Order: sequence, then structure tokens, then C-alpha cells
Amino acid sequence: MSNYHTKSVTELSAMLQAGEVSSVELTQYFLDRIKNNDDKLNSFITVCEEQALAQAAESDEKLKAGNAPLLTGVPIAHKDIFCTDGVKTSCASKMLDNFVSPYDATVVTNMRAAGVVMLGKTNMDEFAMGSSNETSFYGGVKNPWDTLTVPGGSSGGSAAAVAARLAPAATGTDTGGSIRQPAALCGLTGLKPTYGRVSRYGMIAFASSLDQAGTFTQTAEDSALMLNVMSGLDEKDSTSVDKEVPDYTTNLNQDLKGLKIGLPKEYFDEGLNADVAKVVEAAIAEYKKMGAEIVDISLPNSHLSVPAYYVIAPAECSSNLSRFDGVRFGYRCDDPKDLEDMYKRSRGEGFGEEVKRRIMIGAYVLSAGYYDAYYLKAQKIRRLISDDFKAAFEKVDVIMGPTAPDVAFKIGEKSDDPISMYLSDIYTIAVNLAGLPGMSVPAGFVNGLPVGLQITGNYFKESQLLNVAHQYQKNTDWHRAIPEDFS
Ligand code: GLN
Repeated sequence: MSNYHTKSVTELSAMLQAGEVSSVELTQYFLDRIKNNDDKLNSFITVCEEQALAQAAESDEKLKAGNAPLLTGVPIAHKDIFCTDGVKTSCASKMLDNFVSPYDATVVTNMRAAGVVMLGKTNMDEFAMGSSNETSFYGGVKNPWDTLTVPGGSSGGSAAAVAARLAPAATGTDTGGSIRQPAALCGLTGLKPTYGRVSRYGMIAFASSLDQAGTFTQTAEDSALMLNVMSGLDEKDSTSVDKEVPDYTTNLNQDLKGLKIGLPKEYFDEGLNADVAKVVEAAIAEYKKMGAEIVDISLPNSHLSVPAYYVIAPAECSSNLSRFDGVRFGYRCDDPKDLEDMYKRSRGEGFGEEVKRRIMIGAYVLSAGYYDAYYLKAQKIRRLISDDFKAAFEKVDVIMGPTAPDVAFKIGEKSDDPISMYLSDIYTIAVNLAGLPGMSVPAGFVNGLPVGLQITGNYFKESQLLNVAHQYQKNTDWHRAIPEDFS
């Protein structure tokens, strides 16, 4: 019995390169796992069986020819926020239920060029707005560790799919925590790179000054391999940065002696579940054993990050989502009376409740009478938050803390209480406001549910971040755990 699903991307890549398995065989194996298991999770919106097998066959040719790049033939899944040529790209919204993209997002193009096979498109919160995956037009996703709980969001489908090993890895996007928080809740390694490291072209926009693509993997080593392929300047995205892409795998063997780890006191306050705190403290103790030095720090404006985010993100989303008007893309209502009726009903019927809530807040905070009081003020707070990190990084190399205040919560538990839902991202949002790179790494369990350790690095220090995560994974096994029902 083959057990390819227990292997990391790095291991699968080695097997493909050595000819121990073919990409077609591997792709079929994961397609079968999706077929046999995804009814329990709902992690995929679209499975691309035929296309995946065709891509796999092409990759096998390249592998046979020799000198194929490392990810050649590895099957992965893409969050359904990335445009994929000829394949439905829904963003989990009724608005785009009928939308087949005419082009690939740059992330998808880059993966494809590296020989990566696309298994399908994963479920998510509608337009990436949410922390539980419950706002999807296609229904919620379940957490493989306990199917009565949420996988986190918004990239919950990618997280659940990789946690259940229906795919060896997946892409995601993180605007306020949507990679790190579901990675924590599903026991995965999640990486959100520095803003600008990865092109946003073809990634359906939510809040453009915050959105960034990244990965869900089993290990930091795998994240490095994926980041190698995803990163780089893209002339189609003016915010992508012209900075050399190092080989992120070559820095993974630096010891951590003398590494300065900052622990912000604000991340260990009364909002944090006491058992989660213990797991995080144990992880930090492990770092001390590896020779790291712990420095107490403060990020004094942390408490303002959620309020500032919930002004800035809705403001940008209200502008970005104005393009969905029933004319150019996606859903159009039946029998409109006139143009205005068509706009109103197409948007009214096509968007879900959370998306409408954000659009209304956004339009409000940008309106002439309120711009200064809300939007401008939030932008000033954003600067204060970045300055807090700047000051901290003068003293420390990385910052650690919990990724989320609690483990996975029950489906439905927070769906009628947006504020409590918004607080799920209390430790992740500031990192997006500052544009810094961040990771979540599996660090243990509370009541059988995974806990994530958040590691935040300085701008473009992904190499260091990945090494810090990798050293921990060399000494621990948390990242290897697979939920029983999917082992
Ligand atoms: N949960 C946050 C929100 O609802 C972040 C979402 C994200 O990162 N895409 O906006």
C-alpha cells in the first residue's frame, strides 16, 4: 500500500526526480483521496481531474528528459481566489459562480512553469472575508481534526485539504490572517510573505494594500520550495517588488544560537486561552534550548489593529468589489426593469451577507463626512502599528506568540457575532497592516485540536523566518501529525 499522503512536498519531489513514482500515479492517488474523503470536509469547489492528469503526463515527460525543476510533477491545490485559465474561479461567491477565468494568475503561471500539477480549486470564505469558512456560497468547510469545528478562514478549504492530506500543499491568501489562522487551526505550516514579495496579479482583490499570496504545507522546507517558485517581480503588479529572489532552501541549516526572539507582552493577555498559552510557552522553551535568547518587548498599539483593519479593509473592498455590477463579470439578476434595477438586484442577490456588511462599512468610512474621522484616522494608526514593529526589530530578530487566541471553534458558534469572529485575527492582523512576513507553525494540541506558533520576521527576511521554523521542526513532530480519520 503506498502512503504518498504521509510524505512532504520535499519527499515527493525527491521520489519523482528519482523515478520512484510518476506524476500521473501521484496525481491519481491524490484525486482518489479527494474523491473518497472530501464529502466529509467540502474543501474543494472544483476538482480538475482531466486537466490534472494531462498536466501530470506532461510533467512526467519533463522528468524523463532530465533537469526538471524540483517541483515538477508535484500535485497541489489552489485557493479559488486565484484566476485559472479555463477553470471556474468563483471566490466562493454566487456572484462568480458562473465565471470561468480567461487567464491565469501569476502565482498559477509560475507554478505551472515549474511543472506543478493543479488538482483543483479550494473552498474559502466568500471573497476571502471571514475567519471560519462559513461564508462560502458552497457551504462551510469542516476541520479534519474535528468535523464539528471550523477549519479557520478565509483559506479554510486549502487548510482542510492539506491537513487531511488530500493535497500535499496548497496556496492561500492572507489579508488579515487568512493563511496563518487556518494553518494554526488545522495543524499546518502557513507562510504569508512580505507584502510585494509575490505578485497579486490575477488574485481576486479584497483589500489590495493588505492582500498577499502564500502557502499551506506540512513543513517549512516545503514552504521554501514553493516560495522559490511563487516570488518575484511581476510587471503586471505594480506593488510587486524588484528584489532578488534567493533560493529559500539554502538557508535552512543555520543554528539559532544568539537568535533574539521578541515576546510582545500584548500577545499574552487575558484574551488568550490559558492552555493555548502553555503550548506556545513550551515552543518558546524549545527555542531557548536551541540557544535563542528571549527578549520581552511591547507593541503598544496592538489593541488598535483590529479596529483599524476593519476600517481599511472594508474601505478597499468597497472600491474593489464595485466592479461586480452585473455587466462585466458573473451574476446578473433575471429580467431587470432598467439599468439601476439590474445593478441593485445583481449585487443584492449575488453577494452574501458578510460581503454586503463590509461594502456598506467601506462606503460609509470613505464618504465625504466620515473620511477624516474613520479612514484617515485608521491610516494614521496603521503607521503607528508599523512603527511599533520597526522599533521592535531594532532589538530582536523575530517576534513570536500565538497565531490565534483559541483552538478551532464549533461551526455556528460565532456566525451571529461578527465582533467575536473578527477577534480571531487579533494576533495576525497587525502583521498585514505593517506588510511584514509571518508564519504559523504547528506547536502542539489542546483537547485534540492543533495550536499554532506565530513567527513574524522583518521585511523580506523570509529566509531567516523559514530557517527559524525549520530548526523547530527538526526537533519536534507536531507538523507530522495527521488527523485519525484521514491517516
Ligand atoms: N478574517 C479576516 C477578515 O475577515 C482576514 C481575512 C483574510 O485574511 N482574507 O477580513
